[in-house]
Amino acid sequence: MLEQLTKCINDSRDDLLALTQDLVRFPTINPPGDAYRPCVEYIAKRLQRSGFQCEFFTAVDYPGHTDKYPRINVIGRREGKRPGKTIHFNSHIDVVPAGHGWTFDPFGAAIHDGKIFGRGTCDMKGGLATSIIAAEAYIRCFPDYAGVIEISGTVDEESGGFGGVAYLAEKGLFSKPRVDHVIIPEPLNKDRICLGHRGVWWAEIETHGHVAHGSMPFLGDCAVRHMGAVMESFEKELFPALAAKQTQMPVVPEGARKSTMNINGIRGGQTDDFTGLPSPNVPDSCKMTIDRRYLLEENVEDVRSEVVNILDQLKVSRPKFDYSLRELWSVEPTMTDRDAPVVQAVADAIRAEFGKEPDFVISPGTYDQKHIARIGHLHDCIAYGPGVLDLAHQPDEWISIDDMVQSAKVMANAIHILLSERH
Ligand SMILES: [Zn+2]
Repeated sequence: MLEQLTKCINDSRDDLLALTQDLVRFPTINPPGDAYRPCVEYIAKRLQRSGFQCEFFTAVDYPGHTDKYPRINVIGRREGKRPGKTIHFNSHIDVVPAGHGWTFDPFGAAIHDGKIFGRGTCDMKGGLATSIIAAEAYIRCFPDYAGVIEISGTVDEESGGFGGVAYLAEKGLFSKPRVDHVIIPEPLNKDRICLGHRGVWWAEIETHGHVAHGSMPFLGDCAVRHMGAVMESFEKELFPALAAKQTQMPVVPEGARKSTMNINGIRGGQTDDFTGLPSPNVPDSCKMTIDRRYLLEENVEDVRSEVVNILDQLKVSRPKFDYSLRELWSVEPTMTDRDAPVVQAVADAIRAEFGKEPDFVISPGTYDQKHIARIGHLHDCIAYGPGVLDLAHQPDEWISIDDMVQSAKVMANAIHILLSERH
């Protein structure tokens, strides 16, 4: 029977290619969230052909939603002949802006050298197309299957997923009993299983000062110099402490197996978009945004305390130092158990297709799995899909057609394993 599935997918190669090209040609750029409606309507039309019931979900009260740029999602659901488990493939349809440096048309989906080029080929319309082809092949080969197959196209992953997967999860669409297993075809490479991601803590630190004439700075109190002291303490204390924290999580690339922090931005004093000369003022405020990525072995309270302790120390040691801290966003780290059914099924399917053990990895950054775990409380969830992660968001992004075909076989086989199981 599986030979039949393999043959069916080999025969669908041209279809897979055309489907990927069609999806890439919708310029679903986020921000602002362009072409979402025609893209989800196209996906629905395609899925209906294979008997999926499709429903649209518009996140009207969510960030970015307007009449011009609706936050519209689609879920296709196809029930089998008998009751059973539900497997859901979730892909985001939004892509980041093309940016500079392209030699191909970013929305042309040109084929060259066995690859499709374009923004979103790798992240992640190639993965979406692959999951559709896999499901369609499975349905053709096993028309009497038990259980349910769902495929969704969701928005705004690149901007946090609030009007996409988070919204759907809040509606109960990513929870048991509706859904049992979720595969997110993000480009993690065709023979790797991504079990989850590190945690995130974003905060804004503001140092306070006192305005005075720039010719007499001693009459004021410079907030930027106070921020300089914060930076110095971070360099001396925080960064070395973070680099010393090693995780058991198999994060790729390996540099991310430690705690990390990026300083996203820093600004103080008068804006630099003035014409002519700036006013000579001592700045009374300076703001820094930090992006701290943390490990399964840490918790967000400790992450916060590390920063607060440094700031409080400065309050003691540095005259007139005062600060405020605003927490912007946080996500807990998540790692699906290796014994989880979806992990085992995809691992078996990878072994069958590639004759090797799969690599288990953790993503350095987050993706929509966070909402499925946190809001949907569904932990049988992984990312698995074709495409080379490093190419995501780059100019001349591409996906290999052979990789997609192989990955479709893995996905179809995984559907077969999960829907055949009686547990
Ligand atoms: Zn992505």
